[in-house]
Amino acid sequence: MTRFDVIADKALAGELPTRDEALAVLASGDDELLDVIAAAFRLRRHFFGRRVKLNYLVNIKSGLCPEDCFYCSQRVGSGADVLKYSWLKTDEVIASAEAGVAGGARRVCLVASGRGPTDKDIDRVTTAIGAFKERNPDVEVCACLGLLSSGQAERLAAAGTTAYNHNLNTSGEHYADICTTHEYADRVSTVTAAKEAGLSPCSGLIAGIGETDEDLVDVAFALRAMDPDSVPVNFLIPFDGTPLAGQWQLTPQRCLRILAMVRFVNPSAEVRLAGGREIHLRTLQPLALHVVNSIFLGDYLTSEGQPGAADLAMIADAGFTVEGAQAAQEAGEQPAAGTRTAGLAPQETAHQELVQVRRRGAGTTLPANT
Ligand code: SF4
Repeated sequence: MTRFDVIADKALAGELPTRDEALAVLASGDDELLDVIAAAFRLRRHFFGRRVKLNYLVNIKSGLCPEDCFYCSQRVGSGADVLKYSWLKTDEVIASAEAGVAGGARRVCLVASGRGPTDKDIDRVTTAIGAFKERNPDVEVCACLGLLSSGQAERLAAAGTTAYNHNLNTSGEHYADICTTHEYADRVSTVTAAKEAGLSPCSGLIAGIGETDEDLVDVAFALRAMDPDSVPVNFLIPFDGTPLAGQWQLTPQRCLRILAMVRFVNPSAEVRLAGGREIHLRTLQPLALHVVNSIFLGDYLTSEGQPGAADLAMIADAGFTVEGAQAAQEAGEQPAAGTRTAGLAPQETAHQELVQVRRRGAGTTLPANT
């Protein structure tokens, strides 16, 4: 039994790790990495089996935010060359969200840039959500619209919204270093308001934004105190044109330790591997599936992820199953056009695609693959 199994045993008995134990996970060396993952996997398996929930992001209003979150490509004055557009129309929201559903997502996350919605914005979002739910009653909708004012969470809940996302992002102590236009306490209030309105609270963090191990442990415990149903863990995508451009503070191993620490502190929460997984975990992404039980399918708000088909292949290759996929198959739903499995009923055909005859290097005039 490793020292990380001791933490897992405690978590299974309903006992929180101590701060020192959480810090020890982050401080552990690469020689212990598989021990950390194996212990975290015990919790993941206990609460979620080998299922992976797919979520799909739709940026329903992009860029031009008046807030100054330093990590964000949509912040005020951002020089990042991201798409900028105002609110999508209802049919555009539905078309985008249904693309994710066709790819296997069981939750769509409708995200808008901005400090927070006006009541008129809530009108348009609730209209879109109502229309989407009418067509897709079994698909969960999460809204992420910023800081909520009085009564707005209740209106979202009444429209059929399942969840509300608002990330704490980092510790209260570190918050002023990553944003000056609103406060950590504002974020806590919005998550609390969403929960009180009956929305499933979703709140997580971003790593790689200049935080210390203490900050990471603080935010993991702060999240635990709010008892969110889902905890997205983002890794900074350091866009050019933002204050955190060029900050590459993470290694794949550190990302895995962070995910495991979050799992130990929030053992029964849906821990979601979120933005930045491809660029920071790189070839170690599949290992993370042993810790998290949820990912975003395909692209992020302002940056591209790996192809959705690659996400599905990664999940299958790592021995996990997509949550709800069996039910969808039994209901006769077909994989989305363009996905790797579309039209490839026999497994051999899919395997065939992987074999490519060499046409470069020795015996050719083309450069070798080195
Ligand atoms: S994180 Fe949200 S509030 Fe902050 S700058 Fe980006 S879009 Fe605006």
